[in-house]
Parts: sequence; C-alpha cells; structure tokens
Amino acid sequence: MALVNCKECGAEVSDKALDCPKCGAKLRKPKRSTFGKIVKYSFIGFNILMLLWFVVGMGGAADGINSAGSEAEQAGAAIGTGLGAMVIIFIWVAGDVVLGLMTLLTRAKK
Ligand SMILES: [Zn+2]
Repeated sequence: MALVNCKECGAEVSDKALDCPKCGAKLRKPKRSTFGKIVKYSFIGFNILMLLWFVVGMGGAADGINSAGSEAEQAGAAIGTGLGAMVIIFIWVAGDVVLGLMTLLTRAKK
C-alpha cells in the first residue's frame, strides 16, 4: 500500500484510509465495491421485472376470467389468478429481502 500526505496536517497515511488517523480529516469518500454495485442494480432491476411480471400476469389473468364460458370456469380462473398473484408477491418479497440484505451488506464501508 502506498502512503500519501494528509492535506490537513501533513501526516503520512495509507491511501486506503478514508480519514486521517491523526487529525480525522476526510481523505476520500467510501466507495461501493463492484460486487456491491452489481447487487444494488440487480435489486433495482429485480423490482422492475417483478412489477412488469405482476402487471402482465394480472392483465392476462383478467382476460382468462372474462373469456371463461361457465361460472365454474370463471371461479377457477379467479382462484388461479389469486394464487398466481400470491406466488408472484411471495417471490417478490422473498427476493427483495435477500437482495435488500445483500445490498446492505455490500454497501460502502468506512
Ligand atoms: Zn491529517
């Protein structure tokens, strides 16, 4: 590791240090790791995908209910829609919890 001089007090500090151990001056901003960035963008992308899936899935299911011939078919399609919505929401929440935790764990450290 290289040493740089603190611009506040002139002390030699590691270029990996976020602040000067002598005077506490901020030397650089903490950065998210590349992996942390990937996790953060997957988290955002995942939410967009789930929202699209939910909207498209529910739109298709509504067509199924309207085009069903009998009341039994309508009821079946409605139950299927409810179950489908629950599965999507369950995967959505589970994915958010996992990715959310990973986003927290990979965030910029001091
Ligand atoms: Zn200093």
